[in-house]
Amino acid sequence: MGTDGPGPGLQLQAGLQPELRALPGLLKALGMLAMTHAEVVTATERALASNPVLERAEGHPCPGCGRHVASGTCFRCRGGQGVSRFQDGPEPAVNPFASLDEDARVEVRPDSRHALELVLAHLTSRGLLDCGPEQLALLHGLHPGQVHEALRALRAVGPPGIAATSVVELLALQAEALAAAGEVPDWLPHLVRGHLADLAAGSTDAAASVLGLSGEQVLAGLAIVRERLRPFVAMDTSAETSAIQTADVFLYRRPDGSLEVEVPASAWFGLQVVDLSAGLTDASGAKQWLTEHELEARRLLYQIDRRASALLRITECAVTHQKDFLDHGDAGHHRPLTRTAVAQETGLHPSTVSRAVSGKRLRLPSGTVTDLACLFGKGQAARAALQEYMTTAAGGAASDEQLRGALARSGFAIARRTVNKYRRSLQQDA
Ligand SMILES: [Zn+2]
Repeated sequence: MGTDGPGPGLQLQAGLQPELRALPGLLKALGMLAMTHAEVVTATERALASNPVLERAEGHPCPGCGRHVASGTCFRCRGGQGVSRFQDGPEPAVNPFASLDEDARVEVRPDSRHALELVLAHLTSRGLLDCGPEQLALLHGLHPGQVHEALRALRAVGPPGIAATSVVELLALQAEALAAAGEVPDWLPHLVRGHLADLAAGSTDAAASVLGLSGEQVLAGLAIVRERLRPFVAMDTSAETSAIQTADVFLYRRPDGSLEVEVPASAWFGLQVVDLSAGLTDASGAKQWLTEHELEARRLLYQIDRRASALLRITECAVTHQKDFLDHGDAGHHRPLTRTAVAQETGLHPSTVSRAVSGKRLRLPSGTVTDLACLFGKGQAARAALQEYMTTAAGGAASDEQLRGALARSGFAIARRTVNKYRRSLQQDA
């Protein structure tokens, strides 16, 4: 981002012309600024589940900070401390489908076990095969029959659609599974396999005449496709992330002692827009269908990045003011700082700064997570001081009155009642 320094405002920075063409996008970007990290994660998961061109890159969340890491350990926190299972053991499995390996191995003909391993290695994070079976056989010097046997075994044990070679095939396989279970009409798989492109282009006539259906039936089928089918293979991958102390803003100390601010942007989440057009016939409306999804996906990434960029500017500005406070960790070094002052320095609107700071969490270099608002105001300084003091042996056991005394010695004249209020809110956060 080369747009730092005071500017005429968030919406008029250079290089952001696409936004002028997409006002709804701008409004959404501002809405996203108010979102917490958890809310951004939820929005992201929802988009990943519904948009076929939005994808999370291969990899896994860093057990220390949650960053999406392609391979190896996180360059920033090296996996964090206190998460011993990742420190000495091997890397966590990056392939969510690795668990299918054992089941499929039992199922597969012995002469095709090696082919099975290779098929698993060629699965994308969506569960699609990244090349055709024949190509895969050619690539690894296998007999095509072995690859097909491996695919048969994998599909027998895996979720519907696993190892499909295109999104259309993936959807068709899911439709077949639902039809076999009697949950959807028998003709739905044919509709998906042969006519999805026409339907995406808004034409129901061809599908209706070929399949002998009414226009209403075709539309009902399309509704089922939207509701029940997913452009990825669903696997339960709920493990990993629970121990992570997530935050909206991360503060790191560089080797030279200076502070660096990082805000999770789209790359942090491992999000990317992929080209899925290979599996679709050219002369159809399917390309347009994909283009719309692609625009939507890019808009989401843009919004996440805009949120990150605004939060970054605001926090960097506040951190500059609170350098002493952050270096020494004691409230005596906290400087009163208003949101208005930061708005003036960053060129953002004061309400933008307020919305950005509100409800956000800051992870300090020590790993402690606190309110981003602790960099602002005056009362927050006392609260931060109290938090620091309470982590010491003396502070942990101190009464409200003793805490009040300790704060007073740090220069904070605060009523015991207020101390009690701070203490209770800090204990709730812990
Ligand atoms: Zn990390």
